[in-house]
Amino acid sequence: MIVSRPISSTRLIRTYNASTVLRVLYKHGSCSRSQLTKLTGMSPATITRIIAELMEQEIVLEGKVGKSTGGRRPVYVHIDYTKVYIGSVKLLQDDCAIAILDLRGQIIERERIVPHTLEPKILLQQVINSLNGLLEHCRINREHILGVGVAVSGVCDSDHGVVLNSVNLGWRDVPVTEILSGGLDLPVYLENDANASALAELWFGQATDATNSMFIKTETGAGVGIIVNKTLLTGPNFMAGEIGHVPLVPNGQPCRCGQRGCLEPYVYFGDIQTRYQEKTNMLIDQEEFIKLVHGGDQCALELVHETASALALACAHWGILTDMDIITIGGLWSQFNEEVMIYCQDYYNSVLESTGISRSIRIVGTKFGDDTDLLGAAGLVVSHWLTPQSVP
Ligand SMILES: [Zn+2]
Repeated sequence: MIVSRPISSTRLIRTYNASTVLRVLYKHGSCSRSQLTKLTGMSPATITRIIAELMEQEIVLEGKVGKSTGGRRPVYVHIDYTKVYIGSVKLLQDDCAIAILDLRGQIIERERIVPHTLEPKILLQQVINSLNGLLEHCRINREHILGVGVAVSGVCDSDHGVVLNSVNLGWRDVPVTEILSGGLDLPVYLENDANASALAELWFGQATDATNSMFIKTETGAGVGIIVNKTLLTGPNFMAGEIGHVPLVPNGQPCRCGQRGCLEPYVYFGDIQTRYQEKTNMLIDQEEFIKLVHGGDQCALELVHETASALALACAHWGILTDMDIITIGGLWSQFNEEVMIYCQDYYNSVLESTGISRSIRIVGTKFGDDTDLLGAAGLVVSHWLTPQSVP
């Protein structure tokens, strides 16, 4: 009798056959073995073996029994979503963190990283140490991790995993995935924070049913992540969505780039803070600003209205251009439903009505708050996992 060798050391879930089966189960929910044979094109014997291996590792479970169509009654199998994990890293100038999530985007454990320095090699080594420590702490088998996603503010060559230019971090041409994958012994994927945020909504958030969706990122300046046909649009030069400094409001607010009317001075809190101080001589933080708006403070409300007008223009211009189903606005502004979301939605509707386009679109605030980037980095891993050619 031949006893098959345990496959726990083969990184089962990242092998081509097993990940193909898991992808099909992810898309279809649950399937019988014969359905899996048809959907994957693999032989019944191969499917039986892979399911047995996945069940042995408790990644796949048997569920309900179907009706017989003549032969044996089919047993449906499904993924145990809590047994497949994703590592996640966000590197913004003043906000660095790591997390471990399950396949549904539930954060199991997270840890803030206080950088000793922003020097790339030192900070990335700190990330490696922290993530390795967190995996150990959670007692997670490394073989159950699909990969690690990294969200960075800046322009990223996501094909090669290189941060081309991050003004916020002061980085140029940093090979992030090469450094991290070496230290973590896991596949690592990189995206800029706006693109990652769009993936957070696509896989775990309010855009899961949408074909085309957009995320307007506002915390670290203004950037946009664009999903077309459920796929992230990055562009040949990774510039898609880098629209924060394309003037939008005629003769608008001055921007640190030297122009006027870019979206950035309307959404970046540092600029709002300065304008509030100019008008009232009071220096307020973000929490105080939110309270003032909700409390009806005249000056704060005027500033929110000014931002809502700029965001409404952005949504209408960019949304209609790319035929969006949903636009999600991130950061501080997601907290002002009536003042910002409904305002933008009404403006969009009125523009559509005037142009005679019969189309409905949703403009919403993100529900993820500060977790958007971590969820986005995890969504990036899911995206790569579901793209067959990227299977390592
Ligand atoms: Zn600008």
